Amino acid sequence: MIGTPLTLYNSLTRATAPFVPIDPGNVRVYSCGPTVYHYAHVGNLRAYVFTDTLSRVLTWKGWPLTHVINITDVGHLTSDADVGDDKMEAAARASGRDIWEISRHYADAFKRNLADLNIRTPTRFPLATDHVAEMIEWGQAIEAKHCYLLDDGLYFDVTTVPDYGALAGAADDAAAGRIEAVAGKRHPQDFAIWRTTPPGETRQMEWDSPWGRGAPGWHLECSVMSRKYLGASFDIHTGGIDHREIHHPNEIAQNQAYCGCADTGATFWMHNNFLVDRTGKMSKSSGETLTLDVLVARGFHPLSYRLMCLQAHYRSELEFSWENLAAAQVRLKRLVHTVGALRDRSMPGGAPVATYVEQLDAAVSDDLNTARALPVLDAMLADKKRSPSDRLATLVEFDAVLGLDLLDLTRASLRVCPATASITADEVEARLVERREARAARDFPRSDAIRDELATAGVEVMDGDPLGWDWKVTL
Ligand code: AMP
Ligand code: ZN
Repeated sequence: MIGTPLTLYNSLTRATAPFVPIDPGNVRVYSCGPTVYHYAHVGNLRAYVFTDTLSRVLTWKGWPLTHVINITDVGHLTSDADVGDDKMEAAARASGRDIWEISRHYADAFKRNLADLNIRTPTRFPLATDHVAEMIEWGQAIEAKHCYLLDDGLYFDVTTVPDYGALAGAADDAAAGRIEAVAGKRHPQDFAIWRTTPPGETRQMEWDSPWGRGAPGWHLECSVMSRKYLGASFDIHTGGIDHREIHHPNEIAQNQAYCGCADTGATFWMHNNFLVDRTGKMSKSSGETLTLDVLVARGFHPLSYRLMCLQAHYRSELEFSWENLAAAQVRLKRLVHTVGALRDRSMPGGAPVATYVEQLDAAVSDDLNTARALPVLDAMLADKKRSPSDRLATLVEFDAVLGLDLLDLTRASLRVCPATASITADEVEARLVERREARAARDFPRSDAIRDELATAGVEVMDGDPLGWDWKVTL
């Protein structure tokens, strides 16, 4: 076990507290997953860079881990409360595609995004629609004491559990203000356990239930799947900060109703703050969504985005801008260059440098402070008193936690050409080989001609660049 005690911020108590696992032999974490009616935007992906950091830190510190990320393929309405259309049904109607096909397509795309960001595959990716029978059973178990029936479904009465909304805390009133009224609801925060399909309508996804044909409410899936795969009481439940106001208080209420006790279901409730985009491209429902593929099409490597996330604390708001991303990419290139130089000079058999491992441990054990760990990484790589082999052995520890893939990333893999470029990276490299030959033969007119030709294609040749980047795209 790496020495510094781990402390984590618990949204439930609004305080940082030592993390003590329920079972040190199996730490259990549940992360609310994506709603797969569209590609994930980069804000969504920040949530999974955060959970990956959490899972990496737990594993690195020596705890075996079971990590579940669910896939929401039913029930999430266009508002987090109970108003609006089901996001999946709306996407299917708008595109004329089969809803199951849509779900598969975007779930696969999400998994590819995770892989591109070097986010480790969780133990399980359960699908909400595979658990409808269990959701119905849960509804039946809590119905008598906690629910009431309206024309459009079965609703949970939030006054039947102690301290409803304690998680949302001070934000409670604000959240309540955002919940639009559903006719007949006893309290504004009451939420649907089951939504009955209105007479005369059919949905692509619907099931028979004791409350009529329809679909489960969104909050229920996470109570059911977390309990099924992780047990009644597990260690950590995560989500974006928006979930602190409605989705997670509702999960907690369902868990308390089901167990007939005050247990919220998890010891720690953790929330990442938002990635914000002043240009308004973050929403999946707005026209041009800022996806990871959009970043790559602009010439950015996915791990530059990961580094941009790690530069901020997960509980701080992070502003997305192309400038921030470009700065992160320069930093990543610098790291890759430094590691490449160390690799050229290293010998087998290095050993991790304890002082740097301790500083890394201190940073990430302080509520996952990756922003503090990054300068330690810089200092370690630059420490000439340590042999290149020892520095590379220390890098193994940093990479296990930060997941920047610095041991394998090469300069070639970082050369992402924008989709709009009229020339491929291989073509640029080939032209540069010709140019070097021309210069070696002192054929300067030819060397200049190649340079100009590349400039026309949007590529700037960088002779003598200190980091050895021979060229960059200027589009
Ligand atoms: P969704 O696909 O809407 O269910 O969201 C998936 C995850 O992304 C949830 O944990 C959200 O809380 C989180 N999330 C949504 N928007 C953002 C954002 N702009 N920044 C960070 N996390 C977000
Ligand atoms: Zn959830």
